[in-house]
Amino acid sequence: MEAVMKENAQSSAGVISLSKVSREYRGQAGVVRALDDATFSIAAGEWVAITGPSGSGKSTLVNLLGCLDRPTSGTLLIDGEDVQTMAPSALDRFRADKIGFVFQQFHLIPYLSALENVMLAQYFHSITNRDEALDSLAKVGLADRAEHLPSELSGGEQQRVCIARALINEPPILLADEPTGNLDAANQEIVAQLLRDLHRAGHTIVMVTHDPAMAGLAQRKIALSHGKVFCSPSTPLITLR
Ligand code: ADP
Ligand code: MG
Repeated sequence: MEAVMKENAQSSAGVISLSKVSREYRGQAGVVRALDDATFSIAAGEWVAITGPSGSGKSTLVNLLGCLDRPTSGTLLIDGEDVQTMAPSALDRFRADKIGFVFQQFHLIPYLSALENVMLAQYFHSITNRDEALDSLAKVGLADRAEHLPSELSGGEQQRVCIARALINEPPILLADEPTGNLDAANQEIVAQLLRDLHRAGHTIVMVTHDPAMAGLAQRKIALSHGKVFCSPSTPLITLR
């Protein structure tokens, strides 16, 4: 009984909490267990890097954490909620509220300005607010680029628009998949500095990266190998703010 209560207390402490989570893909060639029995949690305000070679299960894990996919077995709690049991429409709403996504490939709408790209995220979430969208761009240092199209912005500037877009609805979790994968060294440093600022401001950041320098910025690394998870250090650093 005491052990159960302790386990519950631990899992509810994390903004992300996995217990024996597996994801299997079933195809004609057989079953691939892309994530194998993962148990760990990520505390609110933590900055975690997910590393591992190609095919080790990073995208599978990120898709699960982003509620774009569901576990085959096990329990995944995001902000205390069991996403496994949610209806698809409720899951869409939940994802919009809880998670901001930053992708390697930016995924900005090419015919919309930086400002409109940020406002589109507001539109899908609730209602648009031009001043708030401008403020979000100002926070990433792009106040003077609001009316520019993505094609008129450098890679680093585009990624900063993506960060503004990811944060506009104030989600507790920022999920970044190779956020600096397409950037040169100077722009990588600008985005790294922005992530440092966000971490300092209390955001939870989960970032997939191949780059040891980027991974080194995180407080904790979660290494994947053949779908198995290796956390270091094994217990989350809980920072009180
Ligand atoms: P990573 O992002 O680390 O490169 P993935 O999570 O994409 O790894 O893949 C992990 C394993 O799962 C790989 O062996 C991959 O081939 C397999 N896999 C990924 N997606 C699918 C799928 N939709 N169907 C079947 N196998 C898949
Ligand atoms: Mg991948």
